[in-house]
Amino acid sequence: MTAALARPARLLDGRSDLAACVHCGLCLPACPTYQATRDENDSPRGRIHLMKLAVEGRLSTSGAFTHHIDRCLGCRACEPACPAGVRFGSLLERAREDRAAGEGGGGARWLIGAFTGRTSPVAYAVLRALRGSGAAVAGARLPGRIGHALAWLAATAPRSRSASPSTSSSSSTSHSTSPSTSPPLSPRAAADEEMDPSPAYALLEGCIMKGLFGRVHDATRRVLGASGYSERPAAGQGCCGALHAHAGLADGARHLARRNIEAFERSGADWFVVNAAGCGAAIKEYPDWLAGSEEWRERAEHVASATCDVTRLVARGSGLNAELKAAVAHDAPCHLSFGLRDDEAPLEALSAVRGLEIESLPSSDRCCGGAGLYALVHPELSGRILETKLREIEEGEYDTVVTGNPGCMMQIGAGLRRERLRASAAHPVEILDLGLRRAAATAATGTG
Ligand code: SF4
Ligand code: SF4
Repeated sequence: MTAALARPARLLDGRSDLAACVHCGLCLPACPTYQATRDENDSPRGRIHLMKLAVEGRLSTSGAFTHHIDRCLGCRACEPACPAGVRFGSLLERAREDRAAGEGGGGARWLIGAFTGRTSPVAYAVLRALRGSGAAVAGARLPGRIGHALAWLAATAPRSRSASPSTSSSSSTSHSTSPSTSPPLSPRAAADEEMDPSPAYALLEGCIMKGLFGRVHDATRRVLGASGYSERPAAGQGCCGALHAHAGLADGARHLARRNIEAFERSGADWFVVNAAGCGAAIKEYPDWLAGSEEWRERAEHVASATCDVTRLVARGSGLNAELKAAVAHDAPCHLSFGLRDDEAPLEALSAVRGLEIESLPSSDRCCGGAGLYALVHPELSGRILETKLREIEEGEYDTVVTGNPGCMMQIGAGLRRERLRASAAHPVEILDLGLRRAAATAATGTG
């Protein structure tokens, strides 16, 4: 006699979401993994079918279940395509929590510990040293996972002056608004310290952004200063918890969420600003993560409503004096489109830069295959998903591709390096920041 299979507890709690799926298949064209593999089990409908089988006790949460749930990008492109309103992102987190509680746990677990745990500052220091040594660039075209990982690391460095003006390449907690090697900022930014201190923002520094994209934090602070905002530090903050939640490590994600809520409340800021769309989408999920406690859910709702992408705040701000002649493509991170639901914000903010030609990539509504640590765990499938964007970038002859999420910057930047394409990847605030300096330089030389 076959022993009854254990029912997955978290998915059992999400039965109403599972039951909402009517198996119409309208989500299949939106799903990048299904488009790449043409395997129904790699589609939203197929994955929901596997979840239902597990809930009915007819399928174990190891084997095929784990394989296809792990291959999901978590991009949530299936959600707006679904006429029944199935909350696939929530189902996916439940499925991964059940999988993590049982066998397996996914190859991403140890990476999460290395990038977000107590020893992560040491890991980032080693990575920055490796990046600075040139070994990452030299090894970026090696085959397999090692080449992929080195290409990702190489992509965290600014590739050219046109993409990234800042010379800072290390972790930075400095609140400086003017690097010594750059032209002076606009009069508005220079006078920032004398301005009315409100509205005030607190910046989520995160883990990978703080460890490898310190220059983007520096640019964020300069651009927000020039837009009329002041900063209130959110002491005690940390990783947003997204990587934990996506891997099914729910207790760790909840612990980090509570820590960030307390840090934001202490800051007294009006806005919780993110420059990593994945972190912003995670904070918007905090009320769901903490739904077990009424007090924490209410506090999480307050923080979620105060959270926005940096480009949204710039677009609402007091206006920038910025100019830059460049052809730039925007690729919207999935978590900006389907998590924060604000994929127009970078385009609105960048429209203030005189001389900038900016347009969305045709596949901007599609995942690049980066998806947190996905590209390191599934390099082959991730590379296939990226291919369409690389061809669009090549044909468009852009100088720079901007995207507001570290995983997307690394994934697209690595692909550009590996294929030796001309364009570079950057964060939208790096372009805004460069535009401020160009305008300041023009004003200083009187050539404007
Ligand atoms: S579109 Fe929605 S209802 Fe239809 S198969 Fe996909 S998840 Fe199910
Ligand atoms: S989250 Fe993305 S990869 Fe996963 S099923 Fe939905 S569309 Fe497909």
